[in-house]
Amino acid sequence: MKMRNSNLGYPRIGEKREWKKLLEAFWKGDLTEREFHLDMKKIRLSHLVKQREAGIDLVPVGDFSYYDHVLDTAVMFGLIPERFRDQDQSSLQTYFSIARGSKDKVASEMTKWFNTNYHYIVPELDGTEPRLIHNRLLELFKEAKDEAGITGKPVLVGPLTLTALSKGEKKEEILEKLVPLYVQVFKELEEEGAEWIQIDEPIFVTSAADAAFMKKTKKIYETIKKGLGSTKLLLQTYFECPEQYEELIQLPVDGIGLDFVHDSGKTLEHLNAFGFPKDMVLAAGVIDGRNIWKAELQKTVKLVNRILEKVGRDRLILQPSCSLIHVPVTAGSEVNLHPLVKSALAFADEKLQEITLLTKFMNFEEETLSAYDQGISELAASDLRNRHSVHASFDEYSTDRVSAAQRKEAQQRKFSLPVLPTTTIGSFPQTNEVRAARLKYKKGTLSDSDYSQFIEGEIKKWIDIQETLGLDVLVHGEFERTDMVEYFGEKLKGMAITSNGWVQSYGSRCVRPPVIYGDVFFEEPVTLKETLFAQRLTDKPVKGMLTGPVTILNWSFVRSDVPRAAVLNQLSLAIRAEVEALENAGIGMIQVDEPALREGLPFKEKMREQYLEEAVKAFKRSTASVKPETQIHTHMCYSSFEDMIEAIDALDADVISIETSRSHGELIHSFETYSYSKGIGLGVYDIHSPRIPSETEMIRNIERALQVLDAGQFWVNPDCGLKTRGEKEAVEALKIMVRAAKICREKA
Ligand code: GLN
Ligand code: ZN
Repeated sequence: MKMRNSNLGYPRIGEKREWKKLLEAFWKGDLTEREFHLDMKKIRLSHLVKQREAGIDLVPVGDFSYYDHVLDTAVMFGLIPERFRDQDQSSLQTYFSIARGSKDKVASEMTKWFNTNYHYIVPELDGTEPRLIHNRLLELFKEAKDEAGITGKPVLVGPLTLTALSKGEKKEEILEKLVPLYVQVFKELEEEGAEWIQIDEPIFVTSAADAAFMKKTKKIYETIKKGLGSTKLLLQTYFECPEQYEELIQLPVDGIGLDFVHDSGKTLEHLNAFGFPKDMVLAAGVIDGRNIWKAELQKTVKLVNRILEKVGRDRLILQPSCSLIHVPVTAGSEVNLHPLVKSALAFADEKLQEITLLTKFMNFEEETLSAYDQGISELAASDLRNRHSVHASFDEYSTDRVSAAQRKEAQQRKFSLPVLPTTTIGSFPQTNEVRAARLKYKKGTLSDSDYSQFIEGEIKKWIDIQETLGLDVLVHGEFERTDMVEYFGEKLKGMAITSNGWVQSYGSRCVRPPVIYGDVFFEEPVTLKETLFAQRLTDKPVKGMLTGPVTILNWSFVRSDVPRAAVLNQLSLAIRAEVEALENAGIGMIQVDEPALREGLPFKEKMREQYLEEAVKAFKRSTASVKPETQIHTHMCYSSFEDMIEAIDALDADVISIETSRSHGELIHSFETYSYSKGIGLGVYDIHSPRIPSETEMIRNIERALQVLDAGQFWVNPDCGLKTRGEKEAVEALKIMVRAAKICREKA
């Protein structure tokens, strides 16, 4: 009996980001709806064919989306936010306006899909009445069959994950109503000849899946199973090992998908300890769907053999650990990477080849795998990965400064800032002109000196603007950076930028995470030139602007041959060297941004403490070597921090700025019970919207914060950097902000 293989999801964006371009063209009105559907269909079908040709037996359908698969699922079941319900519920326009907002309606929130950098649209359940608007999956299943000759494996976000990730009071009620609708969808797929249906339930790997949750799950899956005949249900988990393995394998489904790559071997331990039901299929995630490195297939074979001790080969399906939407499409088109790095890469297409090769080997159709491992072993043995100088004993580096109170005094003496000092978070508008200049420079059509001159011109312009506005602490504006992590990825050693390694972040927005391929170290200053140029233009303090070690780690593709903590430690020393370079050159305030601090947080509560400890230590190692009078700032955004105040405090930064206004000030309440004594700026206006807030609104935000924080510690700043705003808007809003601060200052 042959072992089979499967894939869980394929990147929608296309090799050349065709998908993104199509979406944006449609939004701009350059395509009719008909053209849009047809062009999307071409992409969709080509992805199916590609997977089949790569040798995948169970090709996923329904994973393709025009925006987000969670939104697809919500809309399919009529979970449409109240404010959009006066529109045609099955129209493309409604779909996109839920995701992106429309003239008079705000978009639904979006948030991170588990611990990935993919963002889904949060379904809003309140006031909805679930109903099947149309069986999208059936349509896609038929399309694959009729037009590509592929009997696909329909993939759908499961009811427990869908409701758990939604917002609203009536989750339980909605869940009950959803169950018969899932049955209906599956039933129709069964009639059309679906062999397997994959139900994605990653919620089972989180702490949400406690005993009570599993009990509820059992009932729901019993109902679903009862409604079906011959079609088989595959309950798919990923990203880590399920919390309740024993209960999970007793659910009434035909197969279970488990991640055997992450969570340091936990899944295999559970398999050994508790076994696996004889009548069930195990879809084993044995190729890492999250990283970009070639698998060491000889090791993978050993893993598969261990699994085979517990599961018969006719009941084993080999697959990636999760959907491949989290990795770029193909490593084949990389042009700028060191050849040793390039030959160790495996993006989505290469991962499918690995799956096929592994399956053939296990089925005795391929004799050896040793050639495959060569790329990765060559990189492992090379100098790139083995800079002995950076394998320092990290504990030799100080992580503590003198007390915050002593620092505060020294800093006040040095800077004499007014109460409620005003500042910004770092970046100023990246106009078309700025982008064009950077692009020309990268392509080599703008010389070093012309480019420097251009950047310096922008810095000067904005130093003047900031002085005129009357801001107290200035920034240089970050015009030289496309992205806060990419910029450091280009300059630090041991990291590289790919030419085409895009992954979807949200909607049509794609990001290109740097690759940490080797030992990371600092060779020469990254930010000194621009910062010093700015500081020389003004008597006011200019903050040096750095990306912190935790954020660089969490927003990069990281080598997987050493623990992440080891990479983090190397990054912390590289940033420490940058901090020292700035201080030595006379920069008195240095901001080390950590917007992604929360992102690495493990799902399981028991693992969180260790992560936070390592992260805090790394940040402190980066920043602790400066003199007491040097002021360390940090900044955080993108997520909720209410439950992290202790860790934030532990960073021991002199001043922290946190995005606040989008969560409608919820964060402020945390300071009612937690006494935070260092400098803090809770963003007083939202920078994600072009809307210019009024003075009253900003004063209200400041005063609300001052109810729980001291005027002597509070800073007035926007929520985040202003790179996405227009120049006029940015100046206008800052003008109001400075005025609001002055008014509050008089009252304070
Ligand atoms: N300093 C960065 C900026 O202003 C911070 C960006 C971020 O927090 N994501 O753009
Ligand atoms: Zn931010």
